[in-house]
Amino acid sequence: MTIIDGKKTAADLRSNLKNEVDNLKKKYNKVPGLTVILIGEYAPSKIYVRNKEKSAVEIGLKSEIIEYPDTIDEKTVLEKISELNKDENVSGILVQLPLPKHINNKKIIDAIDPNKDVDGFHPNNVGNLSSGYESSVPCTPLGCHLLIKKIEPNLNGKKAVILGRSNLNGKPMTQLLLKENCTVTIAHSKTKNLKEECLKADILVVAVGIPKLVKGDWVKKGSIVIDVGINKTDEGIVGDVDFDEVSKIAKAITPVPGGVGPMTIACLLKNTIECFKRSLV
Ligand code: NAD
Repeated sequence: MTIIDGKKTAADLRSNLKNEVDNLKKKYNKVPGLTVILIGEYAPSKIYVRNKEKSAVEIGLKSEIIEYPDTIDEKTVLEKISELNKDENVSGILVQLPLPKHINNKKIIDAIDPNKDVDGFHPNNVGNLSSGYESSVPCTPLGCHLLIKKIEPNLNGKKAVILGRSNLNGKPMTQLLLKENCTVTIAHSKTKNLKEECLKADILVVAVGIPKLVKGDWVKKGSIVIDVGINKTDEGIVGDVDFDEVSKIAKAITPVPGGVGPMTIACLLKNTIECFKRSLV
C-alpha cells in the first residue's frame, strides 16, 4: 500500500514552478503576479491567504493581498476587481471565499476576468473545462488529479466514483476524470446505496466534509482513494475517509493532513503562471 505523499509532491511541483518563474523572468523581464482579495476577519481564511502569499513569494511570484473589513460594500469590491482586470501586472485574481452574506458570490466571481481567474470558478472556465477546452481548473481537484496520475498514469476505462458534487471539488473532479476516459459516477447526500457505489470504484475521490465517512468495507481491494476532507475533531484534523481501515484495503491513499491539502496551494501557483503565459500570446 502506498501512502500518497502530497507534501513531497507539492514541494516538487513548487520547485519546478520556481524554475519556470526564473526562466520567464529571464525571457520577458517580468514575473507573474497574484492578487488576493480578503474580506473580513474569518480566521481560517486569513491563514489560507497568508499561506498562499508565502508560497507565492517563495517561488518568485509577485504577491499582493487587498484586505477589506466585512462591512465593505459590494460595489467597492466590484470596482477593485475591474481595476485589477485591467492591471497588466496582475496575472491572477483570487477572491477568498466565503464572503460576507451581503456580498453576492456569483456577482463577484462573474466580475473576474476569466483569463485571470486562478480559482477556475468563472462560468467561462467551468464551461471550457466541461467542453474539454483550455481553462483554469479549480486548484483542489487539479491537485487530486496530479496525485492520481502519479500512482496510475493510464486511467483509461477505470471506474471512478466521486463523493460530493460541489462546484469547488466534486463537479470539476468529474470533468478531469472524464477527460482521462474514466467511467465516472458522482454521488452525493441523496445517493442511495452509497457504500455499494463506492465499492465499484477503482478511483474513489471523497469531498464531503463528514469525518471518517468512508469505512474499510466501502472500498474495493486495490483501489486508489483520495481524501479531500478536512474536518476538525477532538482527535485533531481528520479526513472524510477512515484512514486506518481503508489503508488496509486500498492500493494507495492520501493521508489527512499531508495529502491533498498541500497540493491545493501549489496548484494555485501553477494556475497563476498558466494565466501569465496565456496573457503573453
Ligand atoms: P460542500 O459542503 O460544498 O459539498 C459537500 C458535498 O458532499 C455536497 O455535494 C453534498 O451533496 C455531499 N454530501 C453531504 N453529505 C453527504 C453524505 N452523507 N453522503 C454523500 N455525500 C454527501 O463541501 P466542499 O467545499 O466540496 O468540501 C468538502 C470537504 O473538503 C470539506 O471537508 C472541506 O473542508 C474539504 N476541502 C478541502 C480542501 C483541500 O485543500 N484539501 C479544499 C476545499 C475543501
